[in-house]
Amino acid sequence: MEIKRRLAVLGSTGSIGTQALDVAARHAERFEVVALTAHGNREKLFEQVRAFRPAFAALTDGRFTMADVPEDLRFCRWSFGRAALLEAAALSEAQDVLVAVVGMAGLESVLAALAQKKRVLLANKEALVAGGQLVTDAAARAGEHTLLPVDSEHSAVFQCLQGAGSNPMETLYLTCSGGPFRTLGKAEIDRATREQALRHPTWTMGQKITVDCATLFNKALEVIEARYLFHVEPSQIQVLIHPQSVVHSAVGFADGAVLAQLGTPDMRLPILYAMAYPDRLPTGGPKLDFFTLKELTFERPDPVRFPSLRLAYECLAAGGAACCMLNAANEEAVGAFLRDHGPSPVTVGRIYAVVEETLQRVGNLPAGTLGQVLEADRRAREVARALLT
Ligand code: NAD
Ligand code: MG
Repeated sequence: MEIKRRLAVLGSTGSIGTQALDVAARHAERFEVVALTAHGNREKLFEQVRAFRPAFAALTDGRFTMADVPEDLRFCRWSFGRAALLEAAALSEAQDVLVAVVGMAGLESVLAALAQKKRVLLANKEALVAGGQLVTDAAARAGEHTLLPVDSEHSAVFQCLQGAGSNPMETLYLTCSGGPFRTLGKAEIDRATREQALRHPTWTMGQKITVDCATLFNKALEVIEARYLFHVEPSQIQVLIHPQSVVHSAVGFADGAVLAQLGTPDMRLPILYAMAYPDRLPTGGPKLDFFTLKELTFERPDPVRFPSLRLAYECLAAGGAACCMLNAANEEAVGAFLRDHGPSPVTVGRIYAVVEETLQRVGNLPAGTLGQVLEADRRAREVARALLT
């Protein structure tokens, strides 16, 4: 008998959030949407509340109050501001919490959901990057399969591991499209501006992650995410530049076997896999046609043109709050990069420089408690902001 799962969607108006609602509507017999949250896009949230009729809805940007909510949408409980996100994460009606907010805001909501022993469907990689140990410890306390990856590469690894039994993985192959700057020289990459960075060759996503894909900071964050999700050593993680985005990642075993997950680039697959785990349901997306694939190629990443990957491995080796500070400095730099209209815009080269300099200036800090992680995040942002002005 099929069981209907009660789902809270945090960040429902974003790229991941809207695709999750698309598959939830397609399988209405399997999913009941009980909570929706958005930060600033209230019109879109209102539309979603009208369609899904959740028990709880929240606008997490502090500007809003009940006066902003149309009369016909007051049938559910509403909450506003930062605390509303944590309320949605810990909601008694929800069994599963899809954390699809962008940035550091995800960490506390992931911890709040796990504290209530909910199943977290994790799109927000920043939570694991900033608070890897805290999150994995909280997931271990919450029980088995309480932290399911939504990020396509990590979902691919998780899917490959389903058939592994007790065999440990030897190598985790994390694929990467290479982004729009894959074939450019170092000087051109360093000079690149917002317009160039926002052109992603294979995936359509929110702006922050699109810039991260161009700088390869997205892959840097994903190396850290993989280290914590799958409890592997950084030296076991190999990034492969794979421009076709067909192999979503792979796992190598002691006997030389490599299991990979392939498919068309469509985030609805990893989202729905986490939502329906362990079942596989149709996403409505196109299926892979092997006969139209001309080639699958794999290149070694270049740490000189893309220093982001080098920084990720250095931060993992340093331990403490280094990864958290890498994330914080990158968020600040990307924020400035996206806002910048001025005469001397922040370039991609500047993003790398700001992150590296922030890490050097702050030095390492402890990350044993949430308070320490938040403090390291605050310190790194302060230094990065000063460097950006
Ligand atoms: P997005 O910008 O499209 O959407 C972000 C959502 O979070 C929106 O609903 C927004 O209202 C909300 N939000 C923004 N700032 C917030 C804040 N401070 N507090 C609470 N809510 C806030 O982003 P996205 O592309 O959907 O990405 C969401 C997360 O998923 C990110 O962590 C990203 O790295 C990860 N991810 C995305 C993709 C993708 O294909 N888009 C793939 C893998 C992982
Ligand atoms: Mg990814």
